[in-house]
Parts: sequence; structure tokens; C-alpha cells
Amino acid sequence: MSVHAQAQFRFPGGLALDYHKLSAPIQDAALPQQLVVPLSQHIGQPAKCLVSIGEHVLGGQPLAAAEGYVSTPVHAATSGTVVAIEPRPVPHPSGLSAPCVVIEPDGQDTQQPDTPADGLAMDATALRNRIRQAGVVGLGGAAFPSFIKLNPGSSVVDTLVINGAECEPYISCDQALMRERADDILNGVQIMLHALDAQRCLIGVEDNKPDAIDALIDAVSRRGDERVTVVTVPTRYPQGGEKQLIQTLTGREIPSHGLPLDIGIVCHNPGTAVAVWEAVTLGRALTHRVVTVTGPGIANPCNLRVRIGTPVRELLAQAGGLVDPDVRLIMGGPMMGFALSGADVPVVKATNCILALRPQDLRPDTPAMPCIRCGACADACPAGLLPQQLYWHARAQEFDKTQDYKLFDCIECGCCAQVCPSQIPLVQYYRHAKTEIWAEERAQRKADVARQRHEARQARLEREEAEKKAAREAKKAALRAKAEKKAAAAQAAGGETAATDDPVAAAIARAKAKSRDKTGGAPAAAAKPAATKPDLPPEAGPKTSQPDSPGPSDNGPGTDRRESPSGDAT
Ligand code: SF4
Ligand code: SF4
Repeated sequence: MSVHAQAQFRFPGGLALDYHKLSAPIQDAALPQQLVVPLSQHIGQPAKCLVSIGEHVLGGQPLAAAEGYVSTPVHAATSGTVVAIEPRPVPHPSGLSAPCVVIEPDGQDTQQPDTPADGLAMDATALRNRIRQAGVVGLGGAAFPSFIKLNPGSSVVDTLVINGAECEPYISCDQALMRERADDILNGVQIMLHALDAQRCLIGVEDNKPDAIDALIDAVSRRGDERVTVVTVPTRYPQGGEKQLIQTLTGREIPSHGLPLDIGIVCHNPGTAVAVWEAVTLGRALTHRVVTVTGPGIANPCNLRVRIGTPVRELLAQAGGLVDPDVRLIMGGPMMGFALSGADVPVVKATNCILALRPQDLRPDTPAMPCIRCGACADACPAGLLPQQLYWHARAQEFDKTQDYKLFDCIECGCCAQVCPSQIPLVQYYRHAKTEIWAEERAQRKADVARQRHEARQARLEREEAEKKAAREAKKAALRAKAEKKAAAAQAAGGETAATDDPVAAAIARAKAKSRDKTGGAPAAAAKPAATKPDLPPEAGPKTSQPDSPGPSDNGPGTDRRESPSGDAT
């Protein structure tokens, strides 16, 4: 296979945008005054904090451990002291705060020693574990834990795609990385091919990045790895969308609601490939990333290799500062990025670009006008959706119907909103609809779990009651059997012996003994009318005895007294 190929357009719609890419080399950003490291820097459960205030940490040391399966650790990007663990503003469209570990660098930048290994000699499980422990997530912006994407399970993966399209107008961090670290990207590609047991790798790069394409072709040629091909793809936004690039490179279409894995493909970002290589071969945690700091609102646009946790304010200063106090800061590109709440938020693993736009660079903030049903949004949609219908149903809160129109196939590229003559913020409606549907699903899941727990509790209570009842029955049966056994033994051994064991017989015996005492040792049987009556003539009987008075009954002495008319048997 050739090391280089060209691909044609394969997806509908899309836009030709003005590009403002930098060709600036990557520079190391200065050590910041403080590092603010959020515990959640990935899709999934936040990591669990491992350090405490006052603790001294080294660069590369884990600050928090993965909690749950979809989670990765986070690490310190330099040595210093933990001065706070508290909620701080983080980069998020809602402007919310989240728990962060705040480190004051000691200026020494002491790193934990690397722990090198030969990744190609390791099995896939060990590779994934190493990648996970290094905290590697997708660096294209999604921040999905990479070890999961490198674990296809029972699915067969034949193709690894490296997404070097980088189609947003201002972002150039991947381009810079492909130009300057093509060999490291290929090192990562080989490890990922090994982990996935895939046969080939296609590196897709838009044709407006000739420097990156040349560097990659050169590196692949030198290496002579026939599995890897650099594919030049046409420049058209959103060529860097995972679904769109895969369709362009392979002609395969990801099914609705599906994943690349469903068609035998796994897609990673070039920065992730470098991070995988560093994690596996060097044993180094993900603590730095390349960030483009650019836009007409910044004095000296640049590509910086930044410590994760560095406040955006420090990057802006390093890039010469803002040219206008009213600059709007955006994380990501102008099409899919989101406005930052301020310059104090830190760089996280997902931060690929800080874009500074002046008021005149922004779309005029005019109110949305009614839809004129022009259909321009449908023409521009690269996912082949009907944005206008999606909009109507999202606006009417008819979320079921938005799903009928494949809401979740929308990649939020913004093409529809960009061309809408009525300036309707279409993507905001889609995001709102998705959020509502997810909330409803979460509530439903919660209700299902509560119902299952209630049913399980009821079943447990019923089972315990049945067990108690069975135990009671068994105890009764055992006592009955024991009594019967004793009775049988008593019968076999004679009344007197048995009477000592049986409480009733013992009572009778005590009554007999008492009777003997009162009669001066005469045999009790002599004073027992019932026993003597048949053998005695009427005149020989005791004067006080009634002829038909019962003797000591089986009910015991007390019963005898109650039933005796005189109250005294003697
Ligand atoms: S582009 Fe705007 S105005 Fe035209 S159909 Fe779509 S939503 Fe309506
Ligand atoms: S934002 Fe969604 S609906 Fe609009 S063009 Fe992009 S994929 Fe289509």
C-alpha cells in the first residue's frame, strides 16, 4: 500500500469557511503561578482525590485516582505544594465550578522518574492499563478515556483512523503536532494498532495543511510500515467530524445511534497518539498538551505546550495579552466552541484552543426572526438531517418527535445556524432538547432502580418471614418429638422413674411426698380414697372422706384442696 492517498468528498452539506491557521512552532508555556487541576477532566465519573492540603507533590504524581470504569486519574504537572482543594470555576458552557486541586509550584519542576517499557511486547490488557493509569483521554475535545476506545471487546476492528482533519477555522494545535512530532504520532499508532489488533491505519489530514501532510508522509516512508497511509481529504467544514471523516476515508457510514466500532473502526486524535506513546513507552502521565492561543483579539497568537491546570489568564499574558478589553474568550473553535466565564478557568485535557474574538468579530446579536422555510439549513447539514423540523419540535418541547427526526445524529456542527437567514440559534434548541431527553432518561432510570429496590425489599421481607415461620414449625416439631420420646422412655422405665423427669409426674410425686409427711410416714396410698375405695367396707373409710370424693387428681395437690368440700383431706 502507498504511504499517501487522496480522498474525495463523501458527505452531504458542509461549509467552506475562511481559515486562519497558524504556522507558528510549538513553544513551552512558562511555569504558572498556580495550577488549578479539576478532578473531572474526562467524560465519566470524576476522579477521587488522593492528596491533602499542605502535601508536597512531584510532577507526574497522581492527584486523584479513577473512580468507576469510565474514569481516569489526574496528575500534577509540576512539583509544588497543595494549597487548596475546593470548587473553582472550570471551563464549561454553564460556567459552573467543580472540585479542583490547587498547587503552588516550588519552581524546581521535579518530575517523578519515567518508567519505560516496550509497548509492542506487552499484551493488550497491560497496554490499556498503562494508558489508563497515565490518565490518557481523547485530546480532540471529547475527553473520552482512551483505554476504553482501545478495548473493542468482542468486536473486530480492522481500521484505526487518526483524525488530523482539524476543520475549525482557528485551531492549529494538531497541525503543529503533526508537523513537529510525526514520529511520535506513528509510535503511538503502532501501539494502538497492537492494542486493537487492527490491520491498517488511515491518517486523514485536510489538504490545507501541506506541512503536516509532508511531515507525516516522510515519517511513514522512513519507517516503512505498510499498514499506515496518510490520506489527504478535501477541506470542507466539518470534515473533522468523526462520522464525516470516516465516511470520506473508508466510504463506510456509521449507523444512526451507532459508533465507529459498529463498522470495525476506531478513531483517535493525533495528540492522543502521542500521549499513548508517552504513557506506554516512557511511562509518563498526561500532564501537558498543546493549546492554540489565537484570534484577532490576542496580540501574538501562538501554539503553546501547556501544563494542564494552567489558568487561561497566564496563557493570554504569554501570548502578548488582549488587544481589546471587550474581547470574548472562547474555548475551542468559532463553530463548536463555547464562551468562557472568565480568564481564571484552567486549561484541561480537552482544551485545544483559546480563541479571543473582538466584538466586531462576533455575529451581530440580532434577535431571531421567524423561520421562512427556505431550506438552507437542510442543504448545509452534513449529517443529512432536517434542521428546520428539529427546530420546530424542539421549540414545541415535542422531544419524542425530535428523536423521530434523529436528533442524536446531530453533531452540533453549527452549519445550519450559520446559514440561517433568520438568525435562529438552531443548535441551542438541539442542545436543550438533548439535555431534556437525557434528564428524562436519568429520571426514568432512577425510578426503575427505586422500583427494583422496593420489589427486592418486599421479596426479602417475605422470604425472611417464611424462614422464621419454618424455623418456628421446626422447633415445635422438635419439642413434640422430644416429649414423645421422653414419654415413651418413661413408659418403658416405669412410672416413678419417669415421674422424676416429667414436671407433671414430679408434681404428683411431690404431692405424694407431702401426703406421706402429714400422715406420719404412712403410705400415701392408704389415704387415697379413690385407690382404697374398692377394697374397703363403707365403715372402714375415713370419716371425713366423701365416698365419691376424688383422691389426688392428676391436676395436682391444689386441685385436690379446691375440690375437697372440707378443705382438708385429712
Ligand atoms: S435556514 Fe432558518 S429560516 Fe431557513 S428553513 Fe432553516 S430554520 Fe428556517
Ligand atoms: S448542527 Fe446538527 S442539524 Fe445543524 S447542520 Fe450540524 S448536524 Fe445538521
